[in-house]
Amino acid sequence: MLPALTGLSPENLASWLKDAGEPAFRGDQILSWIWKKKVTTIDAMSNLPASLRGKLTESFRLGALEHATTQGSADTTRKFLFRLHDGRYVESVLIPANPALYGEKSDRRTLCVSSQVGCAYGCKFCASGLAGFTRNLDASEIAGQVLAAEQLSGERVDNLVFMGMGEPLANLDNLLAGISLITNEKSLHLGARHLTISTSGLVPQIRKLAEHPQQIRLAISLHGATDDVRNQIMPVNKKWPVAELFDALDYWNSKKNQKLTLEYILINGVNDALEQAAILARHARKLNAKVNLIPYNTVEGLEWKRPPNVHCRAFQEVLKNAGVSATLRLEKGHDIDAACGQLRLKQETEEGIISAPSKR
Ligand code: SF4
Repeated sequence: MLPALTGLSPENLASWLKDAGEPAFRGDQILSWIWKKKVTTIDAMSNLPASLRGKLTESFRLGALEHATTQGSADTTRKFLFRLHDGRYVESVLIPANPALYGEKSDRRTLCVSSQVGCAYGCKFCASGLAGFTRNLDASEIAGQVLAAEQLSGERVDNLVFMGMGEPLANLDNLLAGISLITNEKSLHLGARHLTISTSGLVPQIRKLAEHPQQIRLAISLHGATDDVRNQIMPVNKKWPVAELFDALDYWNSKKNQKLTLEYILINGVNDALEQAAILARHARKLNAKVNLIPYNTVEGLEWKRPPNVHCRAFQEVLKNAGVSATLRLEKGHDIDAACGQLRLKQETEEGIISAPSKR
């Protein structure tokens, strides 16, 4: 399999061109064809000489993601399913307006990006973890989701959240290489402050990312304020319990300027007791973090349920009364299998790539 042209950094492309005896200015032309004009074949790069297109074709595949399906919902949230070169699938969700999420203006478009095929972390409420881990996405597949979503929608993506399939920090090197492509001024040129990485709580990688020079934002999939609740639904907590996680977040705060976000999916009878809200409020205040409350999105094959709206509001009130900025997310895409991993799970099960997941 040839390497993907979309995975080359501008520097690596420049060095390939030099080795191929081509002038340096061709690099900008090629990058413009890929990232600005969003071509889907090397042959479409019409201002390159045929000889250079031939050399490129001998050395690379373009690496553009193949669009499989789109699900759109009434509120125009769209979920794209992409087929990868090895026949696996990943999904990305384009959310047109998300005022409650990260304090961004409501006319901004956010793309939820996947970082792995499947996930090894097995959170009990999550579709992505249901069929286990298949593989990491590489840099071209990570950045390629943004490219493909912009191409399919005809719209510019303003914000990225790495909250799709997979645990982004378990694929940190490829993630950072993908982010480097996404933020490079010669490719997608999206500001690092518009990127949010979400993690279930991989402590060593949080500390490592805290050292990274770009001002990328961090969100923690907390979903439980104490070890006993977190241990029930997130196996990762047994390795890095709440106290260790919050130590790492203190460290993050000492290195970065932006507010952390604590994500909290409200699951009926599991983590929605008001005592959890009070403890969560103490954690959030100490970290000066925002809280996003997300009523659970039902996943086929799993028994978890969302609490009644009135209870979700009561949970939010406890946080607000404690002086914590807490949003109750008006969910987008509730009608389109928007919980991460569901669409891909359906497709791969139908094609017999994976067997139907069992209830656990
Ligand atoms: S919630 Fe995130 S870390 Fe947990 S299984 Fe799902 S994708 Fe993996």
